[in-house]
Amino acid sequence: MKEGKKQASAGAVFRAYFASIRKHPWLLSLIILGSIGIQAATLAAPLYLRTFFNILATTSHPTSDTVHALGGVLAMLTLMYLLEWLSRRVQGQSNNVFSAKVMNDLYSTSFSYLIGHSYNFFISNFAGSLTHKMSKYARSFETLFDSVVVQFVPTFLFVAGAVGVLFWRSHLLGIALGVWAIIFIAFQLFVAHLRQHVRVERAEADTRLTGALADAVSNQSTISLFSGSRYEYTRYMGIVEAWHKATLRSWMTDDWIWAGIGLFMTAIEIGLLYGSAMLWQQGLLTVGDFVLIQAYLLTTFDRLVGINRDLRRFYDAFADAGEMVEILETPHGIQDRAGAKPLSVSSGNVSFDDVGFYFHADRPILGHFTLNLTAHEKVAFVGPSGAGKSTITKLLLRLYDVQSGSIEIDGQNIAAVTQDSLREAIAFVPQEPILFHRSLMENIRYGRRDATDAEVIEAAKQAHCHEFISKLPDGYDTFVGERGIKLSGGERQRVAIARAILKNAPILILDEATSSLDSESEALIQDALRVLMQGKTVIVIAHRLSTIMHMDRIVVMEGGKVIASGTHAELLEEGGLYHKLWSIQAGGFIVDEDETELANEVAKEENSA
Ligand code: ATP
Repeated sequence: MKEGKKQASAGAVFRAYFASIRKHPWLLSLIILGSIGIQAATLAAPLYLRTFFNILATTSHPTSDTVHALGGVLAMLTLMYLLEWLSRRVQGQSNNVFSAKVMNDLYSTSFSYLIGHSYNFFISNFAGSLTHKMSKYARSFETLFDSVVVQFVPTFLFVAGAVGVLFWRSHLLGIALGVWAIIFIAFQLFVAHLRQHVRVERAEADTRLTGALADAVSNQSTISLFSGSRYEYTRYMGIVEAWHKATLRSWMTDDWIWAGIGLFMTAIEIGLLYGSAMLWQQGLLTVGDFVLIQAYLLTTFDRLVGINRDLRRFYDAFADAGEMVEILETPHGIQDRAGAKPLSVSSGNVSFDDVGFYFHADRPILGHFTLNLTAHEKVAFVGPSGAGKSTITKLLLRLYDVQSGSIEIDGQNIAAVTQDSLREAIAFVPQEPILFHRSLMENIRYGRRDATDAEVIEAAKQAHCHEFISKLPDGYDTFVGERGIKLSGGERQRVAIARAILKNAPILILDEATSSLDSESEALIQDALRVLMQGKTVIVIAHRLSTIMHMDRIVVMEGGKVIASGTHAELLEEGGLYHKLWSIQAGGFIVDEDETELANEVAKEENSA
């Protein structure tokens, strides 16, 4: 069930970013305009410097005309510097607004796509790695865009302009600079390409490191309870060691590249100065030309050396972006069909028709599973661990798609309706509810986000949350910690039940929903649940049979198959697995006094009804 490949292609990264870039054509035009202005001014200024120095070199006795001419050149030089200053502001400001807008867009689009991935996707990926990839994705755009639009393209424009001007002064010098620049850029591209896999390796090692750290931090209590610090340290050091090797390889490669670049720069500096001196000797170049060449060389060095740094950042950012784009390119595991309509629940019939499901083809979990729940029927699933009980509820919620057969609600195949409408029709209370690190009020309100405070508190009272919440110093404003860790298991379950009460959906699934409660709380909650179940189709999964003996029907499962079904009394009479489980529990191994009392009460109620 692995979704997706390892690394997205260059085209895929470009497409992903371009979808956001194209929304701001005016800002992009301003950036390009600013860029062109900067290059034009940077190329023109040395030409005025050349004239300035030529006037100085050729004037032995300055006259007022000479001073006037120098003043004119200085004025033009000032104008060029101002043009450059202004163009930089235009480019910089529009780039700020543009990048912020695009990153905003990238954050929101990638979040909505990421969160739409299937349940299976999230249980197969580290939360830490996903958040790391997501945050690197938008930031990488900033780097990639700056590299291309602010560095690569302007550098190309400047070098082309400098070659053109030098060519005008001396064909040989122009050709020399042009050839050198091409060889130098080709060298940089070649080594950058060669080292790309080193950078990808490093990015992956980085992600693994963060993922491992997040896994250890979120399991800190397990680590200390199992005295696993030493083991975790060794495990983490293994990952750090791989990161260390990948990082060192990357740095050493960089160092060698810098060594090559240094040699290239020395060669062109000496070569051009030597050639210029020869031409000057023949009277073909002036002193001003030396100033021009030197100014162009200095800027060219600065830009081309920058290219190497930018290429490195470019490839890093590219590798980072690729990890997230791969997620964005991976089709959602569970999708709404084209033209899917909202589910319309008229009465609440649920039917599983010859359902087949597996996680791995060689190990079927459900085979030919058929079961009909009539409207408002309350059905309990019991059976040994691993029998497939939770899987049935996950299939009904369409967290997984069935591989064969179908599941219908009021005659509508759940695979053909929208997922949102399906999940709106079902309230689910899991065995281990996970809460947002938000206030208790917000957490309960998640059941129905337009509920008033009074409605939330009413639901909390019914679920017996109000007692413990009102004792907290901050009451309903209390933040519950990551995943709800600051609450006890039983408190979390009660919050989840309050959510379900607030949601009031026509179909209710309780998956071991009261397993973490003490007997007293459970007896109270069972009351609330009985009220909640009224008028709904209900599926309950429970290991403690005392909690489900009053259900309309009890389905006994084993190895993904229904092996018996009937009421509590019928199943007891029938003997078999249910009878055996009941005998064990009623024999005092699991049922405590309170539960036995509760069971007797329920049985009495049923008899009198
Ligand atoms: P329990 O009473 O312990 O909750 P259950 O009857 O609800 O058990 P399921 O959770 O439905 O059992 O699991 C049925 C089988 O499917 C188990 O053998 C389990 O190991 C397997 N299984 C569950 N989830 C996955 C998964 N994501 N990938 C692979 N196998 C899985």
